[in-house]
Order: sequence, then structure tokens, then C-alpha cells
Amino acid sequence: MRRNLYYHDSRFTFHISQTMHIGEFQKLIEDIYLEKDSSRGIEKSFLWLVEEIGELAEAIREGDKEQQKVEFGDCLAWLVTIASMAGINMEEASSIYHRGCPKCKDIPCRCKEKKK
Ligand SMILES: [Zn+2]
Repeated sequence: MRRNLYYHDSRFTFHISQTMHIGEFQKLIEDIYLEKDSSRGIEKSFLWLVEEIGELAEAIREGDKEQQKVEFGDCLAWLVTIASMAGINMEEASSIYHRGCPKCKDIPCRCKEKKK
């Protein structure tokens, strides 16, 4: 993930892009939203996540890449803030995939798809 930083002086805006790990993203989202999100509560925040997923579905259906980018970002931010409220570290949560598929342990996954 890349983080875009902007620094301003009287004449210019400087744009700096740096790689960001999921834990750093979680910390950033906590700094921006945790106080506000915690006062709303985890259940109401979860409903916002579901609403954002609906908006992502619409952006995918419409094929608008710029809108998809916004909605993927929004969904990730909501997911991460809910994890923070639940006391879950997303760096640790995502680490179950570090060695490949958690079930078959392979990269790529070789698990058989279940028939629905
Ligand atoms: Zn697998």
C-alpha cells in the first residue's frame, strides 16, 4: 500500500509517496477516526462497513475504476477501524496468510472449491 503525503509551503505543494504496511495503515486510521468511531460503537460502525461494501459492489458493477479505488479504500478503512475497536491488530490478523493458504499451506491455494 502506498501512502501519499503532501507538504505545503508558500509556493509549492510537495508530494511524497511511501510504502505503508497494514499495521501503519491501522495506526493512521486510529489517529484519524478511533475516537469518533469508538463513540459511535462497533455495531453501528459495522453497519457503515456493510453500506460501504454495497457502494463497492455498485462501483464494480458500473466498471468505474476511479470509483472502485475510492470504495476499496473506504471498505479497508472501515474494516481496520472495526478491528481496532475489537482490539484486533491487523498486522497479526493478516499474518495467518504469510505462509500461504492457512488450510492447505500452499501458494497458490490448492484447496478444492466447495459446491454451493
Ligand atoms: Zn488452500
